[in-house]
Amino acid sequence: MVADKPADSTNDKLDVLKSTQTVVKKALDKLGYPQEVYELLKEPVRMMTVRIPVRMDDDSIKIFTGYRAQHNDAVGPTKGGVRFHPNVSEKEVKALSIWMSLKAGIVDLPYGGGKGGIVCDPREMSFRELEGVSRGYVRSISQIVGPTKDIPAPDVFTNSQIMAWMMDEYSRIDEFNNPGFITGKPIVLGGSHGRESATAKGVTICIEEACKKKGIDVKGARVVVQGFGNAGSFLAKFMHDAGAKVIGISDAYGALHDPEGLDIDYLLDRRDSFGTVTNLFKTTITNKELLELDCDILVPAAIENQITEDNAYNIKANVVVEAANGPTTLEATKILSDRGILLVPDVLASAGGVTVSYFEWVQNNQGYYWTEEEVEEKLQKVMVKGFNSVYNTAETRRVDMRLAAYMVGVRKMAEASRFRGWV
Ligand code: GLU
Repeated sequence: MVADKPADSTNDKLDVLKSTQTVVKKALDKLGYPQEVYELLKEPVRMMTVRIPVRMDDDSIKIFTGYRAQHNDAVGPTKGGVRFHPNVSEKEVKALSIWMSLKAGIVDLPYGGGKGGIVCDPREMSFRELEGVSRGYVRSISQIVGPTKDIPAPDVFTNSQIMAWMMDEYSRIDEFNNPGFITGKPIVLGGSHGRESATAKGVTICIEEACKKKGIDVKGARVVVQGFGNAGSFLAKFMHDAGAKVIGISDAYGALHDPEGLDIDYLLDRRDSFGTVTNLFKTTITNKELLELDCDILVPAAIENQITEDNAYNIKANVVVEAANGPTTLEATKILSDRGILLVPDVLASAGGVTVSYFEWVQNNQGYYWTEEEVEEKLQKVMVKGFNSVYNTAETRRVDMRLAAYMVGVRKMAEASRFRGWV
């Protein structure tokens, strides 16, 4: 069960907060900012831990722990998803909030980063229990969130139904129907067309741009996707529809491989709502084997710390595009870059989700809604611009793509924090 294994918090190299801080520091140094800017940006400005009592189906009361981190609100309200996962930790949520700030900076949204998480396993909970946790979380954090303060959204194991419960709970507290409080809602509650597939669309656009740079034809390219959740499953479909050959996919329990290309439509049809599908097959390979398959494009779309110094030398892809948050360690980033593999980092590749969330929030604020085509056209422009600013920074400043992405991503909030007189 490689893809669902908790990161080893005793191993510094797998400490996502530490590695994020290392690159933020490097980026600020390259841009010439003084130490106090780093001191401000190395941690969220606000971090709330809450305890959420929920009556379970067997009538017992269970207390869940939740977090909300707000990294930096100099540019605008903070924004970012809420994940439901047994391995959620304070450190992880903090790192994820910094990544959200960087994403907003790269695609130039008027936001800072935020992130939330609840320690729970939705795979083992009923609908009613999930509703209890979702509503309880909103009641606990209601004072620090809101459409002009901090706007939640979906993340790992949360979806539009959970956003709907959260929006309803917030609207009750606010005594006003407030769709702009949260994004990733069902369309009938003010959700945006194209939001559900937005992360995968953004990744697809990055793959197309990366392939242009590497002279790879997407048609016929061999693609491996690790993870079959929201990002991974839509991405496999988009790649398949673009004429690529998706030769490997995986979930938390194992992986499937077919050098001739997998039947993606069949797999999509059979996956459950948590992206599990490999349990239906007798012949599977491990997640480790999947990552090392001979392919052109590798997309880690599952969880953190999947490509490390232990397997980076065995990666055979020419292009690695990070649809998940934090799938590659810093040591592995260096190995891949030194080997000439084009790595499109998470804070750029996965920015499509928050971009369409921004579009959803704008539509909620103006009360006027766009078509799917309008959303896609706008997303395309934003992602291509983001990709090129990172790629060009990497070229002109002679840094790897991750450092380039951090340099592009951190600049606006550093500047805004200085204009406000904070540092
Ligand atoms: N959870 C997504 C992310 O990590 C989307 C956040 C949002 O839409 O605000 O980027």
